Amino acid sequence: MAASEYLDERIETATHEEIQKLQDARLAKQLDYLFVRSVFYQEKFRAADLRREHYRCLGDLQRFPFTTKEELRESQAAFPPLGKHIAADLDDIIRVQSSTGTTGKPSFVGLTRRDAEVWTKATARSFYTQGLRKPDIVIHAAGLTLFAGGLPVKDAIEFAGAMFVPIGTGASEKALYAIQLLKANAMHCTPSYAAYFADWVRREAEIEPRELGLKKIFCGAEPGAGIPAVRAKLQADWGARVTEGLGNADMVPIIFSECPDQSGMHFNVPEYVFAEIVDPESGESLPIETGVTGELVYTSLERECVPLLRFRTRDRVTVLGTECRCGRTGFKLRCVGRMDDMLIVLGVNVFPSAVKDVVSGFHPQTTGEIQIVLDEPGPKVAPPMKVVAEYADAACDLTALRTEIERKIKAVLTVSASVNLVAPGTLPRYEMKGQLVKKAYENKVAV
Ligand SMILES: [Zn+2]
Repeated sequence: MAASEYLDERIETATHEEIQKLQDARLAKQLDYLFVRSVFYQEKFRAADLRREHYRCLGDLQRFPFTTKEELRESQAAFPPLGKHIAADLDDIIRVQSSTGTTGKPSFVGLTRRDAEVWTKATARSFYTQGLRKPDIVIHAAGLTLFAGGLPVKDAIEFAGAMFVPIGTGASEKALYAIQLLKANAMHCTPSYAAYFADWVRREAEIEPRELGLKKIFCGAEPGAGIPAVRAKLQADWGARVTEGLGNADMVPIIFSECPDQSGMHFNVPEYVFAEIVDPESGESLPIETGVTGELVYTSLERECVPLLRFRTRDRVTVLGTECRCGRTGFKLRCVGRMDDMLIVLGVNVFPSAVKDVVSGFHPQTTGEIQIVLDEPGPKVAPPMKVVAEYADAACDLTALRTEIERKIKAVLTVSASVNLVAPGTLPRYEMKGQLVKKAYENKVAV
């Protein structure tokens, strides 16, 4: 039987009206559950003077308050083990995962059996959208512990009928051995690792990465694979199609995922999550239209343990389209970074990933590795923004290259930067998530 284009065609190609009807019914049911089972939301609703009858249709959701990560963290600290936002009995929780803790301590998330099944189905659909098919052999070069990109991904890849090979991080030798022995054709990892591993394979095994035969690289956990110049370099290095996914442990491990058209990540789990894009300052819900930029906000539509209402992700996204050649009807976006990573130079917002995109565009004269150096805590940065970038072996006139990069940053990002070019291999490489900002002020010695 020929493999289908979709894992769940009915949902993935449904009309806007069909999805709206489905989400409306599911949200009503989820709210019934919250009003009865969640002490956390009962208190929030009381404080906002909201009753169940205030929700009649999807449009009413905007009357309901946001939920922030800080609230969940406080709830967990004050009411251990999992906070008063858990709405299921502890006895019914079969697993605990956690967010990766980019800011502060990791927060734990419980899953009931039903929640775990939803995660598996949703995440499998995301990989399928990215082109995973039986009998792919997938090297998992990422953590398997509390990380939501670990065990839930294992469940999803196995559910889709592909072979899952758990390598973990910091194990490039094992990854290389497994690829060669099993003739693996796919890999799941962060884009930072895909770049690191390509360099490692060249240096340590003296093999060109593309000779290893990987054809599909599924990336996640950080922006990168969707940054045009970064993707182009990864694809050239590996001879593979690189796609990306976006989600989180608080909702569903992968909620948005890119199809082989590579024109942005589709929202493709609409029966489990309701997605909004809001203005980060005013909190106003924005229309889902091409070009709209804002913060992603999620509402659970089918969750037993930790159903969340209007959860602010701090992910800054741009809508890239509402149609696609693949036939999926879920809108498409790209994540430009975490709101917490955003820098402000003379009132202009700059995401470190955008700087990396500009510098990577100078490949093969640059390696694409950068670091923005902050002398004072952000987000405000006094111009010129200090950027350290690695030149590559193909660079000959470093003075001209530096001037060109500074000019391009000014033209594309409208901020002044001073670029310091350093030798290839000088900047740190990361096997998990990359660090594009160096907080130089943290190492300052007090006088
Ligand atoms: Zn598509």
